[in-house]
Amino acid sequence: MMQSINPANGELLFEIETWDDETLDYVVTQAGYMFGDWGKLTPIEDRCTLMRRVADVLRDDVDLLAELITLEMGKTYAEAKAEVEKSAWVCEFYAEHGPAYLADEPVQTDASKSYVAYLPLGVVFAVMPWNFPFWQVFRFAAPALIAGNTGLLKHASNVPQCALAIEEVFRKAGFPDFVFSTLMIGSDKVEQVIRHPMVKAVTLTGSENAGRQVAAIAGSELKKTVLELGGSDAFIVLDDASMQVAVENAVKGRFLNMGQSCIASKRFIVDQMQADKFIAMFKEAVEGHFVAGDPMDPETTLAPMARQDLLDELHEQVMHSVEMGATLVCGGYQLDREGCYYAPTILTDVNSSMPAWYEEFFGPVAIVIKSTEPAHALGIANSVDFGLGGSIWTSDMATAETMARGMESGATFVNSITFSDPRMPFGGVKNSGYGRELSVQGIREFTNVKSIWIK
Ligand code: NDP
Repeated sequence: MMQSINPANGELLFEIETWDDETLDYVVTQAGYMFGDWGKLTPIEDRCTLMRRVADVLRDDVDLLAELITLEMGKTYAEAKAEVEKSAWVCEFYAEHGPAYLADEPVQTDASKSYVAYLPLGVVFAVMPWNFPFWQVFRFAAPALIAGNTGLLKHASNVPQCALAIEEVFRKAGFPDFVFSTLMIGSDKVEQVIRHPMVKAVTLTGSENAGRQVAAIAGSELKKTVLELGGSDAFIVLDDASMQVAVENAVKGRFLNMGQSCIASKRFIVDQMQADKFIAMFKEAVEGHFVAGDPMDPETTLAPMARQDLLDELHEQVMHSVEMGATLVCGGYQLDREGCYYAPTILTDVNSSMPAWYEEFFGPVAIVIKSTEPAHALGIANSVDFGLGGSIWTSDMATAETMARGMESGATFVNSITFSDPRMPFGGVKNSGYGRELSVQGIREFTNVKSIWIK
């Protein structure tokens, strides 16, 4: 049984039985058969036309879809609308650029004709999280389907209505059945799907633990994986940075989506000359900004976290660090009201033995660490096992660029918080995963990069 529970008030919104093995096998098999038609016989231009219609459906239905997101996982309605719009953008982006990204590339050899062709693999299985329940799915589906693959979605168990709504979006847009299918299964059935002979590749966005397990199974089947896992992004503030700009962006970078983002700014590494000022201004900004309430209400700036167990886990990480000597500048408690609301929290006096230093804090908790010089800041940034994104705040562009290149991450932004953009590749290094999504690199992940050589 899958349940949809409103994290703002604990109300049970919807429940649905998970599938039995027979239904699961039927849908996976049909997705495999459909690949022949979709990936080999349907011209890419037709696939792009359908993907443009997906964007239209998303835009037409944005109000209803956004409400579903907010009710099911708690983000503010404004954030949910922006997520649906961005999902429409990635569909349009790949409908426009996909054909060029996948066009044959001639190569000069001894042949009379030789080139590289980017051909689809078959059924791609996506295991997706609840934090951006639309964006994460469309970020995978738009390129994978335009490339000619068929897609299977196993969404997070707490967002079954979003999972079904996404499948309906494809249906409404006119996609043939089984090009994109939502599987109503829990994580216990993921192994079975990976091992299914029709499935050729797997993509997972989620925790490091889920990534390791999925990759191990896929590895034993020699099936390709792309993993987008957690992050603990550094937000490095050098001594010449504007404190006002840094603090404004620190609030955005840490608390967007109630901090439940893999590329949220998580560790604020601030030059010691500016650190006390930064902490005071950050505290003031946080305390002045957030108003808890119903996430459907436009006045609300403090929304609930997605699930109580996620809040409890975050609180335990905070308290464990405090017991080890970290200082709570503000927050550190669940709000005394119904729903999964956690007070925006700032922690300082953190050292490398504490969870706050080396674990991912997936919620509204900012960790401030002092640094002595740029090299020290970079050393702290690189001292953790994650490597997804990161940002550097300074007016010294030469230093910023050198540091950006030296940061062990899949993306580093200078004087901007990290965000995903269909035009740029997205993914991590170290325990943040491997492979890339978005841009030209993303659409080629699930293709057979094939050499054609004609004498
Ligand atoms: P999970 O990694 O558990 O869930 C993400 C997806 O993976 C869900 O569809 C889930 O299914 C599935 N899954 C979970 N465990 C397995 C497994 N062993 N084998 C196969 N599939 C699995 O994330 P949580 O929701 O539990 O969040 C926990 C932490 O994960 C967060 O605190 C954060 O650190 C990280 N996370 C990172 C995200 C990112 O964007 N990189 C997004 C969400 C979480 P089901 O829901 O049925 O368990």
